[in-house]
Amino acid sequence: MEILNDFLLKEYNSFGLDVKAHRFSTFENIEEFKELLKYNDKKNYPLLVIGNGSNILFTGDFNGLVIHPSMQDIKKVNETKSSIDFKIGAGMIWDEFVSFCVNKNYWGIENLSNIPGTVGSAPIQNIGAYGVEIKNNIQFVEIFDLADKRIKVLNNAACKFGYRSSIFKSELKGQCVVLNVVIRLYKKPNPILSYEKLEEKVLKLGKKNLQNIRNTIIEIRSQKLPAPSEIGNAGSFFKNPVLSNEKSIELQNEFKDIPVYPVDNSVKISAAWLIEKCGWKGYKKGNVGVYKKQSLVLVNHGNAKGHEILELAEKIRESVFEKFKIMLEPEVNVI
Ligand SMILES: Cc1cc2nc3c(=O)[nH]c(=O)nc-3n(C[C@H](O)[C@H](O)[C@H](O)COP(=O)(O)OP(=O)(O)OC[C@H]3O[C@@H](n4cnc5c(N)ncnc54)[C@H](O)[C@@H]3O)c2cc1C
Repeated sequence: MEILNDFLLKEYNSFGLDVKAHRFSTFENIEEFKELLKYNDKKNYPLLVIGNGSNILFTGDFNGLVIHPSMQDIKKVNETKSSIDFKIGAGMIWDEFVSFCVNKNYWGIENLSNIPGTVGSAPIQNIGAYGVEIKNNIQFVEIFDLADKRIKVLNNAACKFGYRSSIFKSELKGQCVVLNVVIRLYKKPNPILSYEKLEEKVLKLGKKNLQNIRNTIIEIRSQKLPAPSEIGNAGSFFKNPVLSNEKSIELQNEFKDIPVYPVDNSVKISAAWLIEKCGWKGYKKGNVGVYKKQSLVLVNHGNAKGHEILELAEKIRESVFEKFKIMLEPEVNVI
């Protein structure tokens, strides 16, 4: 374990911003992690845990200690006739775990193929895509509680998962470090293909099997979203707003073509549609812009500064509020 000074975080934020951490270290196990905490008890630096930085916007250098878990082990912890549970180290690349499950013929997370980031971050915002959210598969999240300095295991209910949210983004925000996640996969095929034309596209490749679903999702994503290695971005910058039925009826009366998706007792509205209707799609000014194929994605066209991206996000929020009286909430963690 090595503690690095003035560490450039360019490789650790998918916006590709030139920002530095005052101190930076990775840790491979709980002993190294505890050593880092001991070091920080003396220094008292603000602490930030990051995975791959694909859901973070740094507005400047981080004047503290950034730590990055690199535990990558996958351990089977339970198996029945129909399911299997794996405990996965927080530092494992999320898509490598998806690929592992698809190769072993285990069902459940194939629709979450190609989401950037690490396993440890997956529960933080309850990652989701193409009709699946990871909350459906997470059994337990093992954390280190920074307040009472103990390892704790949270079951699914204790994680308080919601749409792009969890206890780790609310009550426990900045209070804990995810060490391991226990995820349940299923042995019986259960393709979830209701999202738009997903089924049709999978069938073009042949059977509705895991590999075809994964390949289709990867193909769709590569057409819709910019690869951070080419254009810096953090995926969807805003959450889709969730509105009451009454509010959504009002909106639908005024804007006939507004796309709405019923969820539980409320309605989800497409934030991309709202932003597009305000004329932002493909917008570019200086180093920052809105991706031409997906208006939820803010991009760094080159040498953008974090604050420029934040200012653009603020302008978008204001114009959406002016037109629709809806205040968009960021999905990305602004640091
Ligand atoms: C091109 C692109 C497409 C994307 N598509 C999707 C999508 O379809 N669906 C979706 O849900 N998301 C999507 N995202 C967002 C992102 O991939 C996810 O949020 C992912 O889980 C972030 O992982 P990360 O390791 O990079 O987290 P980071 O960005 O490093 O961290 C995210 C947050 O989690 C905290 N954190 C990270 N690791 C830990 C830990 N071990 N313990 C405690 N806190 C921690 C950080 O402090 C931060 O607040 C996309 C991003 C990009 C760039």
